[in-house]
Amino acid sequence: MNDYLENLDRALTKIPEIKGSGERFVVPEPKLMTEGKTTVLENFSVIADKLNREPEHLFKFLLRELGTAGKLEGSRAIVHGRFSSSVVSELIDAYIKEYVTCSECGRPDTHLIKVDRILTLRCDACGAHRPVTKRQAASIIKEQPLTEGETYDVMIVTVGSKGDGIAKKDKYTIYVPGVVKGDEVKIKIKKITGNLAFAELIEKKKK
Ligand SMILES: [Zn+2]
Repeated sequence: MNDYLENLDRALTKIPEIKGSGERFVVPEPKLMTEGKTTVLENFSVIADKLNREPEHLFKFLLRELGTAGKLEGSRAIVHGRFSSSVVSELIDAYIKEYVTCSECGRPDTHLIKVDRILTLRCDACGAHRPVTKRQAASIIKEQPLTEGETYDVMIVTVGSKGDGIAKKDKYTIYVPGVVKGDEVKIKIKKITGNLAFAELIEKKKK
């Protein structure tokens, strides 16, 4: 009798899970923390688990899109550079769109297989499959243009021939007077011309 009740219990608690997986796919928000010049994704393995993908696969994708290096450490992912949670969220969404959800039925119950050497997403729910391409996501970060009058946190990567510090952000080269290489600074954009931006120093951060 006890066994019966236990089994029933188990069966009942399982029902909403199964139902839920097809209806609403909720991926945990990335928990980010900056530590010096690195960004730590605290719940990285939780997210990879939820997506049912190899952490290494998701991590490689993030590194490529962020254009940085990093390492996995236990359940955390650590990347060089400071990134906002909105950027990381967008990239994870792009990953899901590309590598997780079925484009036919929209469900996340899929797996990746190679068909004739082409990485293919196969849906366990409806059987649809499509090749996975490495497109779109690369544009996400670059689509965030700088805005004149806005402030940004950047790192001075070098100093130009006229003595102005140079920072890089996405496609932009930003000139900042009064700084030295390696400074982490808050700047205000004064003028943007094409891919060039001219900024003033708001404050230097302590290292
Ligand atoms: Zn499907």
